[in-house]
Amino acid sequence: MVAEEIGLNDYLEANGVEPVETDLGEYIIQLRHEPPSHIIAPAIHVNKEEVADAFRAAHTHLPKERVLEEAPTLLAEARKILREKFVAADVGITGANFLIAETGSTVIVTNEGNGDLTQTLPKAHIVLGSIEKVVPTLEDAATILRLLARSATGQEFSVYTTFSTGPRRAEDADGPGAFHVVILDNGRSRMLGTEFQEMLRCIRCGACLNHCPVYGAIGGHAYGWVYPGPMGAVLTPWLVGLEEARDLPNASTFCGKCEAVCPMRIPLPKLMRRLREQEYERKLSPPAARWAIALWAFAARRPALYRLGASLAAQILGALGRRTGRFRTLPLAQGWTAGRDFPAPQGRSFQSLWAERK
Ligand code: SF4
Repeated sequence: MVAEEIGLNDYLEANGVEPVETDLGEYIIQLRHEPPSHIIAPAIHVNKEEVADAFRAAHTHLPKERVLEEAPTLLAEARKILREKFVAADVGITGANFLIAETGSTVIVTNEGNGDLTQTLPKAHIVLGSIEKVVPTLEDAATILRLLARSATGQEFSVYTTFSTGPRRAEDADGPGAFHVVILDNGRSRMLGTEFQEMLRCIRCGACLNHCPVYGAIGGHAYGWVYPGPMGAVLTPWLVGLEEARDLPNASTFCGKCEAVCPMRIPLPKLMRRLREQEYERKLSPPAARWAIALWAFAARRPALYRLGASLAAQILGALGRRTGRFRTLPLAQGWTAGRDFPAPQGRSFQSLWAERK
């Protein structure tokens, strides 16, 4: 994810270096020239047929008649190609799930073993981690590693958990001759000391994405950058600027599931709400949206006025939309109705129905 964040592959390609993703999902989307749609399942939006098409287009030296219909055959093909790349690579670059201050170790977890091959077979190993991955001690890392596996994939522990603390020593049978650790800030330290500091506890488990009804409906690519879902809705505005990503904190129903499932207890809805407030305070949203919110706030503080307005709106819209049951466009809401119809109200407000029931 950090390599995606800084556009590392594009930079390497522009400078004559061939980067090869080694996680199966990342490899698939690299072949398809598209960004990940999930932070731990980057190709979750791709079906088997599309993977087969991507492999046939890229692996042109392999026989055309080979069968690529089922997951095991697709996996075997990717493994065959990637094994050759591992052996031939000059440099292996891994991310870091954790960086341990106590020992200077880096930790990477995978379920495919690609992280281990990346850091043991090439001559040099470069670790690319971000500052919030630093934990004080080995014991802290062990505790959080258990949370990570359970929240990410429901496993007791990830299949491969590898600690690296330097290059190969004289007595080692294998390992890289050179070992470098690059720690990325990219705007994260600006969050320190603010209420958004809590976001730096994120361990990228993906649980908030998996439980988010908005992410489930629109998919990861709709978030427009590397980090989708609720965690992306908080992190992305900090990394690229609220001006560029002001829609993301608004893409939430505030159902609270993301906070409930987050193993690091990050108050995601509170942070998204704060970003919405900043958007309003800095006048980043269009004037019509700010006026509408100001009008709503004025009415919401006056219950009698609110009830009257809601009742009138329900009656008028209900009468106007009675024939078709929906509006294809609505004044002041053309942006919303551009992509979907607005169901016509049934003529009564919820509050008037509720009062009648009592
Ligand atoms: S915000 Fe919480 S649930 Fe979401 S990816 Fe980060 S640690 Fe996991």
